[in-house]
Amino acid sequence: MMTVIDTAPRTAPADATTSPPRAGLPSLAGLSRARLLAALAELGLPEREQRMRAAQLWHWIYLRGVTSFDEMTNVGKGLRARLAERFTLARPEVVVEQVSADGTRKWLLRLPPEIAGDRPHDVEMVYIPESDRGTLCVSSQVGCTLNCSFCHTGTQRLVRNLTAAEIVAQVMVARDRLGDYPGATRATGPGLPTEGDRLLTNIVFMGMGEPLYAYDSVAESIEILADGEGLGIGKRRITVSTSGVVPEIERLGREVGPMLAISLHAVRDELRDELVPINKKYPLKQLLEACRTYPPVSNAKRITFEYVMLKGVNDSPADARALVRLLAGIPAKINLIPFNPWPGTRYECSDWETIEQFSDIVFRAGYSSPVRTPRGRDILAACGQLKSETERLSARERLALRAMAAAE
Ligand code: SAH
Ligand code: SF4
Repeated sequence: MMTVIDTAPRTAPADATTSPPRAGLPSLAGLSRARLLAALAELGLPEREQRMRAAQLWHWIYLRGVTSFDEMTNVGKGLRARLAERFTLARPEVVVEQVSADGTRKWLLRLPPEIAGDRPHDVEMVYIPESDRGTLCVSSQVGCTLNCSFCHTGTQRLVRNLTAAEIVAQVMVARDRLGDYPGATRATGPGLPTEGDRLLTNIVFMGMGEPLYAYDSVAESIEILADGEGLGIGKRRITVSTSGVVPEIERLGREVGPMLAISLHAVRDELRDELVPINKKYPLKQLLEACRTYPPVSNAKRITFEYVMLKGVNDSPADARALVRLLAGIPAKINLIPFNPWPGTRYECSDWETIEQFSDIVFRAGYSSPVRTPRGRDILAACGQLKSETERLSARERLALRAMAAAE
């Protein structure tokens, strides 16, 4: 079990970087260039000026991470005042911030309702630091409609797609909290990357939701995140994980071109139908064909196949051999994920020896170090443990989880 240095959820201080949106005013943080232009047109700026101003705003918002129009020193005072009358640069409010002993950080964000009067939704995101990179796991939906039998998010009733701006804002909040903008005070603490000049370098769409069911938002957000004059997280550093929405896989590759991860979890249709029910609609043969023909795929841009290790369910040596056979011919990486238990689940994580045996077979077939180390377990930040505030765990569930973690 991990030593916990700070697991007590704390309410983040209401400083400038986390101040909630001012009632009624829309935020420009997270908008695409096209939407920024539209906002400037709304202000009545002449068309020839709009493009130049949009480029300035882009620089300040995404490259510098400013939270106030007054910091935009090359924008005239008059225009700054007009911008501030109509817009803000507010991010979603951070309601809880937790730091794990291994440096993993988890934030619960409150998204203002899309329609005035609706209730706000909460989403979680997780930052996983390593020595040479920092990966942010972002959510694409509140909840998920897909009900994979081993996933906690799938038990959440409430679902809506996030907007592109809400996805981008997750990255901006993480950079705010980490001080990961040029000239900002960088976060310190155990586990943070020591190589390179950025703390947040990679994005994985592996939080709440099925990204390919929120296709438009995800595609738009990736273009914003990858822009070299802004947040600058290139498409090779952005991975979209899908349970297998086959028709959207080809489209994602052709139109956007990020890295792809597939939640495989089973090598036979019968079992995959049970674990990942979307398999009934798009069975393995179709899924693997979509992978084989995924536009950006190459030996340098391999597809990651995620495989959760469930005791006695999908973890036999025969399964491992079948997995290797199934992926033959696809430039692939295999990621074995120890199952993260949650209260009420009928599954258990495979024993360590079983995982090692499975991983040896995969390793001998030419795939390197395939086991994903669980990160941030002490703050429930691991895969499949994300669940939002709107459906918070009951006190009993929380106790049960702590007991499970302690028993490891
Ligand atoms: N909906 C997308 C992305 C989010 S889930 C997808 O399914 O791919 C990110 C990864 O975590 C998926 O591979 C998912 O199958 C896995 N996962 C879900 N619940 C888990 C759990 N309890 N333990 C370990 N991995 C889990
Ligand atoms: Fe949804 Fe992915 Fe969880 Fe399945 S594993 S329920 S697709 S979040």
